Parts: sequence; C-alpha cells; structure tokens
Amino acid sequence: MRRALAALLAVLVVTGAAAADAGGVVNVYSARHDTLIKPLLDRFSQQTGIDVGLVTGNSDAMIKRLQVEARNTPADVLITVDVARLERAAEAGLFQPVESQKLADSIPAYLRDPDGKWFGLSMRARVIAYSREHVDRADLSTYEALANKRWKDRICIRSSDNVYNQSLLASIVAAHDIDFATKWAAGIVDNMARRPQGGDTAQIQAIAAGVCDISLVNTYYYARMANADAGSEEREAAGKVGLFFPDQDGRGTHVNVSGGGVLRYAQHRDNAVRLLEYLASPDAQAWLGRANYEYPVNPKAEVSDAVRALGPYPFKRDHVPLSRIGALNATAVRIFDRVGWR
Ligand code: FE
Repeated sequence: MRRALAALLAVLVVTGAAAADAGGVVNVYSARHDTLIKPLLDRFSQQTGIDVGLVTGNSDAMIKRLQVEARNTPADVLITVDVARLERAAEAGLFQPVESQKLADSIPAYLRDPDGKWFGLSMRARVIAYSREHVDRADLSTYEALANKRWKDRICIRSSDNVYNQSLLASIVAAHDIDFATKWAAGIVDNMARRPQGGDTAQIQAIAAGVCDISLVNTYYYARMANADAGSEEREAAGKVGLFFPDQDGRGTHVNVSGGGVLRYAQHRDNAVRLLEYLASPDAQAWLGRANYEYPVNPKAEVSDAVRALGPYPFKRDHVPLSRIGALNATAVRIFDRVGWR
C-alpha cells in the first residue's frame, strides 16, 4: 500500500512549491499541462498579490491523491478536463459548493454544476472529422446518422475507456433514452473500420492515411494539427480532413469543458473563489481559449481566429446541463460494455 502510494505521488510533477503561509496564497492541483495554465496563474499573482502554488499531474491520480490527503490536503482548487471527471470528483465529496455572482454571470448555467461545486472554464466541441477526398459534406448531419449502414467499415474511433466518448454517449442517452443509445453504439461498432485505438489525433491521421473516412474528435486536436508548422506531417494530414459540426438543425453539437472547483478542505477558500472568478473573466478566458484552441465559456471573451476557423461560429450547442452528462457516465460505460465497443 505504501509503495502504491509512493508510486502514485511519483507520477505527479511539482512545478511550483505549494505555498504554505496563510493569507496571500492559493494552492492548485491541476490535471492540465503546465503551459496551459501557468502563465495565467502568474498573471493572477501579479494582479492580486496572491501567490499560487501549482501541482500538475494525471487527472485520476489527482483525484486519488485528494482522497488520500483528505482534510490534510494543501490544495484549495482542483482543475481538470471533462465533466465526467469533474462529476467524479464531486461525487467523491472533494468539492464544496460556491456561490458567486461573478461566476454565475460569467459562465452559462449548463456549463457549471447547479450546486456550485464545479465550473466550466474552457469549452471544446466533439465533432465529426471526415475525409475531404472520400466524403461528401452533404452526407453528414447528426451523430445519430453515423450509425447508418452507409458508413459501414468507414469509422475510426477511440476506445470507450476514454471519457470523451463516454460523455458523448451520455449526451445521446440524455437526448433519447438508454435503448436508443444502445442501438446507436452498436451501429457505430458495426461501422468501425478497425478496433478502437489511439487518441483523437491518431483518428485524424488515420483518415488522412485512408484507413477510414469518418471519426469523432475534439476540436482542439484538429486545430493543433491545422496550426502546426507549414509543411509538417500534422498540418498536411489536417489538410486532408474536414470538420463537421453535427446537428446544427437539431439539438446542437455536443460540447464539454475543462473546469475547476473549490475543494472541500480548502484553507484559502476566498482566494480560491477569487482565482476561479479570475479564470472566468473575459481576459483570462481569451488567453485560455488561445492556449489550447478552445472556446471560451464566457460569452464576453474574445474568440481567436484559429478557433473561429474550425467551423460555424457561433455554432448551435447541445444545451443539456453538463451535470446531467456527468451523472449519466456510468450508464454510458455500461452501454459500451454491452455492445462490445472496446
Ligand atoms: Fe484532450
């Protein structure tokens, strides 16, 4: 057990000494890459005089660490990606509810927990990636339609143990019911060109290489490739692949968030709330969006040209509360198991 814990802690990378003195301090556990958060935390420190301690690491390891540390944790804020993980942390009792008019004004209600336990801080859409050579855009419409036999042996997709597809399937349960979602997932399995493998970037590369014609990917993966150095392999692959935002005539495209919340045992609660308020402010939102090609959650924030170029903007979003998507996660995982989506 000791050894397991040591191994667990070893995978966490400390990038700034967790600041310890009371007062002008806030300590953050973040599952996001350093470069996607550190500059913003520095700016927050400059503006407020509050020192930020930052520990980054794998999301599931962060959640386990917080459970082990319990009331002895130095952390005040947890930042992670995907509502499935935010909800997992909430269900584990790691967050405390926060009431903040600023946060309520900055973040649309469907992108935050109704009890104020977590708040979406940047938004991504899960969209159809397609082969420009082999697919006519006019044949694309909804997520539902991808289960049609027309796409037999033409879909590449990542495995079901990744939260992104879990949340997408949860959104299909929410829009229909378990029965419908099960048939849909079985239809996608029937249409797979290969066993699920690789991350979202690998799906885009597979389409470019002619392995398959269709996939579902988060917008920022495509954007990273499309904005890579001119002449690079990634950029060339992205050039062969188009993005289609599903269901613009219906409920809208499935979106998800990175987000954060104030921890139950936070010792610097007020500073933690201030930090979240800062991260939701238009300036910070614009920076966050640019850093990883994501959409701001705050409608007042500027959206970068690279992100606008991904598809229609503004696009119609599925407004189902993300808290419901998180709550349906276990249902989605069961459906994937039942239909053999590995
Ligand atoms: Fe990702």
